[in-house]
Amino acid sequence: MNKIILDGKLVAKNITETLKERVSILKTKGITPCLATILVGDDPSSETYVKMKGNACERIGIKSLRIHLPKETETADLLKTIEELNQDETVHGILLQHPVPSHIDERKAFESIDIRKDVDGVTSTGYGQTAFGFGKYPSCTPAAIMEIIKFYHLPIDGKHAVVVGRSPILGKPVSALLLNENATVTTCHSHTANLPEIVKQADILVAAVGKPNFIQGDWIKKGAVVLDAGYNKGNIGDVDYEACYENASAITPVPGGVGPVTISMLLKHTVDAAELV
Ligand code: NAP
Repeated sequence: MNKIILDGKLVAKNITETLKERVSILKTKGITPCLATILVGDDPSSETYVKMKGNACERIGIKSLRIHLPKETETADLLKTIEELNQDETVHGILLQHPVPSHIDERKAFESIDIRKDVDGVTSTGYGQTAFGFGKYPSCTPAAIMEIIKFYHLPIDGKHAVVVGRSPILGKPVSALLLNENATVTTCHSHTANLPEIVKQADILVAAVGKPNFIQGDWIKKGAVVLDAGYNKGNIGDVDYEACYENASAITPVPGGVGPVTISMLLKHTVDAAELV
């Protein structure tokens, strides 16, 4: 069997090359795409993620407006900051890094992001539009997974896709996107009975569990396409890569799989939003 290692870095490079051209064209029209990132508190991982996203913006000519609020910030203050960004015509995308400190009403903060600037796909309206099939900016990791599948021309129509995880930013929207492409989708979660038996039926498997090496090699049907969205401490995915490699026809590594494409989808959505101004 011809096995494909799904190279996220290659997919990301392809996307960012096109974006550079689109950013140049926008600049000739006097528009510089701008992504505002909001970080609340000083969680080191969140700081790293925000920095990575800001640097990725700057590498292709997108302006990165970085707002860092103290950990004592109240929900009302965060809402005020988001509202100012909603009103700011020079800002095209808003990303609120999560998790925010637990005293903040995170859902309320997400919902206050203007739908036209929800480039990270965190509002319930954005999710609803994605599920209906006309969402402009699906959450970036689900969008990245679809982008990888399409880049490698892997068939989705009529396939059985199994998604392990049902979070609002990952499992649920990726299930919706696969369904929109005519996959038959099973979404699994922590209450799912006989999980290995269900995973064994997958032509396409998306792992979005948040548990290192959770998906076992003998759960993989021969020829399955395996997409690992997991990113756990120590650069470990949710899929036991070595064990699952054997039966998979195509598989994403961690790191270098879904992660790099996720960032490039955020950049793409920001450029899309700037073009719509
Ligand atoms: P999450 O909000 O913690 O959701 C985890 C999901 O897994 C939940 O739906 C949970 O079910 C399910 N689950 C937990 N234990 C399970 C079990 N034993 N059997 C079946 N399902 C189980 O996590 P998330 O934000 O979706 O993230 C998932 C993974 O993706 C993490 O590793 C995260 O780091 C990674 N991630 C990567 C990127 C990227 O750019 N590559 C971006 C975002 C997230 P319940 O709903 O029943 O609790």
